Amino acid sequence: MGIPQLGGYKPTARIYKLGLLLAAALTVCATLWMLSSSLSSVSSSLVSGINGIKGSKGHNNNNHHHNSFNPATAKGDNLLVGRLPAARVSYDQPAEGERVNAAIIALVRNSELDGLRKSIRMFEDRFNRRFKYPYVLLNDQNFTQEFRDGIAAITKNEVRYGVLDSDYWGYSPSVTPEGTEKKLEENKNRYLYGGSLSYRFMCRFQSGLFYKHPLVRDLDWYWRLEPDVEYFCDLDYDPFVFMRDRGIKYGFTIAPREGRRTVETLWYHTREWIKNNTDLLPERSLVNWVMGTDGHYNLCHFWSNFEIVDMSLYRSAAYESYFQYLDNSQGFFYERWGDAPIHSIAATLLLEKGQVHWFEDIGYKHPGNMHCPRDPGMLAKCICDPGKAYTYRSACQARFAKVNNMAKERMLEIINNSEREYHPSEKSEDVDQAAKHGS
Ligand code: GDP
Ligand code: MN
Repeated sequence: MGIPQLGGYKPTARIYKLGLLLAAALTVCATLWMLSSSLSSVSSSLVSGINGIKGSKGHNNNNHHHNSFNPATAKGDNLLVGRLPAARVSYDQPAEGERVNAAIIALVRNSELDGLRKSIRMFEDRFNRRFKYPYVLLNDQNFTQEFRDGIAAITKNEVRYGVLDSDYWGYSPSVTPEGTEKKLEENKNRYLYGGSLSYRFMCRFQSGLFYKHPLVRDLDWYWRLEPDVEYFCDLDYDPFVFMRDRGIKYGFTIAPREGRRTVETLWYHTREWIKNNTDLLPERSLVNWVMGTDGHYNLCHFWSNFEIVDMSLYRSAAYESYFQYLDNSQGFFYERWGDAPIHSIAATLLLEKGQVHWFEDIGYKHPGNMHCPRDPGMLAKCICDPGKAYTYRSACQARFAKVNNMAKERMLEIINNSEREYHPSEKSEDVDQAAKHGS
């Protein structure tokens, strides 16, 4: 102990000296402690960075322990690593190159302002801040000033507002309001939106009318946007130009299966239309993506809340004839035919495989399903987890990769030889279950 060695000093002086020594020792200790803790935090972040690069091996959380970085199964901070090699595009400058005659189109309600602001924010951040396509917002009601202000605050790009009158928002000529009311009551607990009248107006509008609207009819291309969707990947090229240059007319991201009950007689009517309009059909098409060798609809469809389309598809004589036929067949109201299966059946009947494109590089989420690319080069530009992507588990998506064009003759042979048509009582529970699990 130190005190005895201090003999000879007066007690007060000794105590004073002791105090000084203690203070000095404390200062040294405190400094060392601060230094060591900041060093250890630097070293621990270095370690976690290195672990991130290697995969999460060495992390003391119980996440995943890979030996090498695998973007298909990567979780959490591994995704940051995936982004590191990619040179992020500059968001200060508008993208160079030409534009096509296109717009980003959303049908939306005043009550969905927040959801649309989120969608536009992400859409701008990933793509449109640089490419500057105008937005066309459509509504069956007048847009409020609050809505317009809310949108103006989130994008500098042009926004055009349109209201839908009864030419665009109304019943099919083949149904009555009374008949519809009865069917809504019957179907309200059978499937999502089973009892909603506005949902049916919406599906009919999106199926056969939107591309004729005064704000839309002069556009050559469109990209559909909805409230509450998410865009995960920086897009440094223009998908419209990409499609045009390759003769692609329909682009999608997610392909689930439709609930059978919503489209009970859609394929029956489609087959009737096909048989009566063979002259409108191309010599070969991708129809076997939606039609099995049994001649029936397998419920695969492109999820139309995202779609990039060359409008010449919808404005073709064949599409118009198909829509008119369906509009005269009651199913928009007495069933709940969605625009997604209708667009998809038409696209695959009227286009060849090379004219339909899966945008695997566009990570996207609409409530219910999401896509995130697992290819490392694509993932490098994204903020999402491919392990959570529905698309790599979807049977329809797998079928899209597999199927090829079918000759018109062969299609007609299959259709004419399969007399049996799906009936509501047939296995609809099984199929709805399968749809839920995406298989
Ligand atoms: P889901 O995607 O099939 O679940 O249906 P949504 O509710 O998202 O509707 C699809 C799109 O149509 C969204 O962009 C909605 O904002 C829009 N929409 C649906 N119903 C109406 C409606 O009654 N009025 C308006 N203006 N837009 C609607
Ligand atoms: Mn939606």
